[in-house]
Amino acid sequence: MEALLQATGFPFHLAHLEQALELPASILRPGPGRSGKPGPSYKEAVEGFIQQQRQEGDRDGGTSPPGPSTQVGDPAAPRLPAPARTQELLRLFEAVETATAREELLQMLRTHLILQTARTKGYAKVMTAESCTRVAIKLLTNLALGRGAFLAVDTGFVDDRHGDVLVVRPMRDYTAKEIAFYNHFFRVPTVIAPPLRTKRREKPSIHRLIERFLLGLQEDYPATISTVYRTGEKLSPAPAKASSESERCLLCLCALDIDGEEELALEPTLIMEEPEENGCCQDPPAAPAESKAAFIPLLCYGCRLTFKELGPLATLPPYVRAEAQRRIRSAETEQQSLEVPQEDEEPGKS
Ligand SMILES: [Zn+2]
Repeated sequence: MEALLQATGFPFHLAHLEQALELPASILRPGPGRSGKPGPSYKEAVEGFIQQQRQEGDRDGGTSPPGPSTQVGDPAAPRLPAPARTQELLRLFEAVETATAREELLQMLRTHLILQTARTKGYAKVMTAESCTRVAIKLLTNLALGRGAFLAVDTGFVDDRHGDVLVVRPMRDYTAKEIAFYNHFFRVPTVIAPPLRTKRREKPSIHRLIERFLLGLQEDYPATISTVYRTGEKLSPAPAKASSESERCLLCLCALDIDGEEELALEPTLIMEEPEENGCCQDPPAAPAESKAAFIPLLCYGCRLTFKELGPLATLPPYVRAEAQRRIRSAETEQQSLEVPQEDEEPGKS
């Protein structure tokens, strides 16, 4: 991967998945929105870059691709993460109960890591490479995962839930086949990332099942993928917009899609068995937030289902636990400040 990136001549940053364990809790809060006017420099920056490439090309005689002179990775970063970190990451993935939750966890860690890299390196936009085929698979997968309300932000062209960093999906108009043909004819070198391995005797994830189903259908009915894709185009991103922190899902940052009544209906499916709880309860001042059940009200319907299968709290990434603690505590202080004035009123009345 690194060799390919070096050959392109574009600046690049390497990040190991292990670094996701060191993310700050702020990654689960939207950044400050950008100022109203769009950056004036965008078109100029692109023009400038093309000009610069052309000049360098002229100097080299016009034939060689842009050299690796631009910037080569981050020289300060160590080559490989510490083995202890890798072990910790493996433990996190092994604790997850189902293949579906494991896929969701991987996607979440990747998104947060990319977001953090963009924030620290000062990028305001991130382009991801989902093809039309990927988008169609994700649409149906997320529908099956109970994320129907957020389909538009999860698969649309623009994803602005993080506030300061925009995620755009410019490749979503091209099918995987078109991209494969382009790469073949123009000799674009490619790397194929292996999918997550499924444990033996474990059912395949919903992600894999939907992929198999859609690609199988596409063979006999070539309009399948484009039909699913175009249906997704008609969805509105409005249901995912959250106005305040208490209405925002801890993990996916979308608006909580659960109203009081619905919650009652859902409750039976969301009860947790926590055998370790008895031991924890003996020392009362222990953080009350450190139980899986305390996380549930902070999550949207889809994330609740995934969270249930993520294994014990102890193996969760530290930044998720830190942010959850902070939000539970701030909700508590809000509750207390609401209660205090009522107590003050009483002596006045009497
Ligand atoms: Zn969520």
